[in-house]
Amino acid sequence: MKVLFAKKILLASGWHENVRIEVNSEGIITSIQANEVSFGASMIDGPVIPGMPNLHSHSFQRLMAGLSEVAGNPNDSFWTWREIMYRLVQHITPDQMYDTARYLFVEMLKAGYTSVAEFHYVHNTAHGQQYHDQAEISKALLRAAADVGISITLLPVLYTYSGFNQAAPLKHQKRFILNTEQYLNLFEDLKQSIHRPTQNLGLCFHSLRAVSQDQIDTVLNTVKGDHPIHIHISEQQKEVDQCIDFIGQRPIEYLYDIADVNQQWSLIHATHCNANEIQLMAKSGAVAGLCITTEANLGDGIFPMTDYLQLNGNFGIGSDSHVSVSVAEELRWLEYTQRLRDQRRNRVHQTQYNHNIGETIYQKSLLGGAQSLGQNIGRLEVGARADFLVLNAYDPFIATASDTDLINRWIFGRDDSVIQDVFVAGEQVVFKRHHQDDDAIREKFTAVIRSIIQ
Ligand SMILES: [Zn+2]
Repeated sequence: MKVLFAKKILLASGWHENVRIEVNSEGIITSIQANEVSFGASMIDGPVIPGMPNLHSHSFQRLMAGLSEVAGNPNDSFWTWREIMYRLVQHITPDQMYDTARYLFVEMLKAGYTSVAEFHYVHNTAHGQQYHDQAEISKALLRAAADVGISITLLPVLYTYSGFNQAAPLKHQKRFILNTEQYLNLFEDLKQSIHRPTQNLGLCFHSLRAVSQDQIDTVLNTVKGDHPIHIHISEQQKEVDQCIDFIGQRPIEYLYDIADVNQQWSLIHATHCNANEIQLMAKSGAVAGLCITTEANLGDGIFPMTDYLQLNGNFGIGSDSHVSVSVAEELRWLEYTQRLRDQRRNRVHQTQYNHNIGETIYQKSLLGGAQSLGQNIGRLEVGARADFLVLNAYDPFIATASDTDLINRWIFGRDDSVIQDVFVAGEQVVFKRHHQDDDAIREKFTAVIRSIIQ
């Protein structure tokens, strides 16, 4: 058992001072006592807040961040970006996946993410065959997470078609393609590979264009249990138009028609949704997975957050393609996109958080992220896991912030550099902005970039 002492901490019940926390060997908080003394405990100086779950990641895409920002085609879009991503993915090996994920996961920890949902679809060899161990790359990702100390929910993806109407896969998609049987085998295999309390496994459909209704039915009828279920849903207007052309319905309306969408589900990039779809999502308790910096980078569109929040819809954040790996930036732009659209200030707020923007978007993203990853995280209370960040007690903005201002000061006035220490399951993984394997991880990742990109 570990005993920690926080001078100031954001518990599920609000801010408290001089708090003694006991954490068991599984990383679960077993006792919290406020207004205590620090005797015998490890002292934590700076304000402690829950670590953020990152609900959407494609690790390998970190390699191409910043490489597609050159104007070529006047109609550059998500679809031309995807061509670059396809070229990149042709060559990457399982070891390179591991080295890339390790580097990215350390970046995430330092940026405030203590857990990640990895939406993983690169299953096959460069020739499009299954590896001898079909879960080879999946296992490399699990190992990368365990080695750097981040918690993970692995989401092996079912990806079978290149478009609606069961269109045959494109040449560049051959590393992604599995049929339903191969997918169910992979899922079963991975179930046996996950033993750590900080790891979880979920179901995942790439998108409505990449799987058929029959496949969704078969997978959901075969795999029982309360696994998280993720899907890319309506990122691009073109995808919405194609769905209407082929199926006669918008993607979110169609999904709710064919599946019992409940709190297990995360709808990633629910960017384009009408009033009915907003209501369906909010009512079902599913999580809207928002990845604002990637959605902005790809020119996707703006999620109608103000309407969604009026219905108290659940949401969380993800860094997706990793053009930005920063909790503060993701949340800041979640608010700013609404301001730019509405030509007004202070858009995303709720009464329960005193109309405080930072508090609302942070707390809602914690809860939505925890639900999306299917893990016992996102709040600091007895029975939850001890995943938390320690902010810099000596930063002028943090040192002088009132309880209600603190998260606003960080998100809207500062950046990742105020995150000093990071703990996952009660274990310290970032020490004064350093990870113990920083140098080795950086060298390996640099070598991957050299060999893949050049
Ligand atoms: Zn994605």
